[in-house]
Amino acid sequence: MSAPTLTSAAFSAKQLKVGGVTPFSATDYPGKLAAVVFVQGCPWRCGYCHNPHLQARTDSSPLDWQQVLKLLKRRIGLIDAVVFSGGEPTMDAALEDALREVRALGFGIGLHTAGAYPRRLNEVLPLVDWVGIDIKASVQAYDGITGISDSARHALASAQAVLSSGVAHEFRTTVHPALHTPNDILTLAQTLSAMGVRNYALQRFRSTGCADADLTTTANVGYPGAELVAQVSALFTEFNLRDA
Ligand code: SF4
Repeated sequence: MSAPTLTSAAFSAKQLKVGGVTPFSATDYPGKLAAVVFVQGCPWRCGYCHNPHLQARTDSSPLDWQQVLKLLKRRIGLIDAVVFSGGEPTMDAALEDALREVRALGFGIGLHTAGAYPRRLNEVLPLVDWVGIDIKASVQAYDGITGISDSARHALASAQAVLSSGVAHEFRTTVHPALHTPNDILTLAQTLSAMGVRNYALQRFRSTGCADADLTTTANVGYPGAELVAQVSALFTEFNLRDA
């Protein structure tokens, strides 16, 4: 009996769905030069999303994972790490295999996640060297930002998984005056600090890529103000204020 033929459809079903690649970035993994792989798909629908074109999963991957691996092989010696971003990379069942393949090339691994899939995050954390986890808001405000009910529970479970893993990390929150009151921001920061978060960043909303006209036309210059930033900063050992 002849060996079963691996069809291209069956083959691609096991491959990470990649919506884009940045071959070189000095800003996506602290202190490292990295390539960034943007995984396709996200279950949430945040109005301020910079990559709304990556939210939906298409039948086939926009970029072939084997081609992405070839590109990464050509980057050996030029970059330190590969960051998996999105979209929400933990949405993809092929993420773990992809991380193993990239580790085998000798790269460090960074992961950007909003924590929508805590179980899969937990499974892949042993393969990750650094994680940037996006925490959207206080529990009460969460679903209003993601557009999906019960999203805070998943995010907080993921936050706990990151803290328990011991993997180097940064927690970050993108803030916009139409979405976060000063009290929301302080309440969230206090919650994270009480959980044991020591490294936190507030990211000022930036309109690049955002498809929500209400958010892009609302003035947000100078928000959050210096007094609130100082209160939040005092809660963490490491703190950064930056543009998203
Ligand atoms: S979780 Fe991130 S990728 Fe998903 S919609 Fe929100 S901002 Fe976009």
